[in-house]
Amino acid sequence: MRSVPLLGKPILPTMADRYFVEQPIPTHADALAAITGPEAHHLLHVMRAKVGDQVMVFDGGGEECLAEVVELGRRGVRVRMVERRAVDRETTRRVTLAVALPKGDRQRWLVEKATELGAARLVPVVCERGVAQPNEKAQGRLRRTVVEASKQCGRNRLMEIAEPVDWATLIDSTAGIPTRLIAHPGAATGTPNLLSEADAMVAIGPEGGFTPAEVDAVLAAGWQTIDLGRRILRVETAALAVLARMVWD
Ligand code: SAH
Repeated sequence: MRSVPLLGKPILPTMADRYFVEQPIPTHADALAAITGPEAHHLLHVMRAKVGDQVMVFDGGGEECLAEVVELGRRGVRVRMVERRAVDRETTRRVTLAVALPKGDRQRWLVEKATELGAARLVPVVCERGVAQPNEKAQGRLRRTVVEASKQCGRNRLMEIAEPVDWATLIDSTAGIPTRLIAHPGAATGTPNLLSEADAMVAIGPEGGFTPAEVDAVLAAGWQTIDLGRRILRVETAALAVLARMVWD
């Protein structure tokens, strides 16, 4: 079977014309994919797509595909793949943010900006002084925010929104990550090299801060604390400030 040509050369995407497809895009020539849900709504009713229009689609797996609209339906749009492009817009190192999420809009804002800055994964953490109760509906909303931000910024891999974990589980499940940091005001245990290339994880506490027991537990597990300056930052500011210092292209 012939396959859709895979070109290495990135083009500057017209971000408005990027569409996310839920199902992995098949790679054979002339493969069809369905654009559904809010993506289809946008294409049909905002962009007023017509058969023959070209759009860029991505499935979150790392490639983008130039595609042509072949069918407009009430529930979705079918597109035919024209050209696959392996375009890597990921950061050099993989950074996981573990965050005691703030509420509502500030939570959504954090996820949008972390996606733009290139975090690989965000783990909602349940801390003793945390305020937001992570649930399935909230997780779904955050995943949608990741898709929206990825369309806009050109990321072809989605930042993973992991299942929420408690503090002990986070510590156990991240033992293999080379650089593990906890942001805690006034508590730097050294000067960790934020610019190393090793995969990293950084934990940000709730507005009420981490409890001494939570800090002791990670120090016992070999984490390092970092201080982000003399001012106390809100949860989302702290998360983005540290992320921006750790990633580059
Ligand atoms: N009252 C809390 C502050 C919480 S701010 C306290 O004194 O601990 C929310 C989270 O953002 C903190 O748990 C920490 O992870 C991070 N943070 C905010 N400002 C920081 C700073 N200056 N240095 C290190 N971490 C900071």
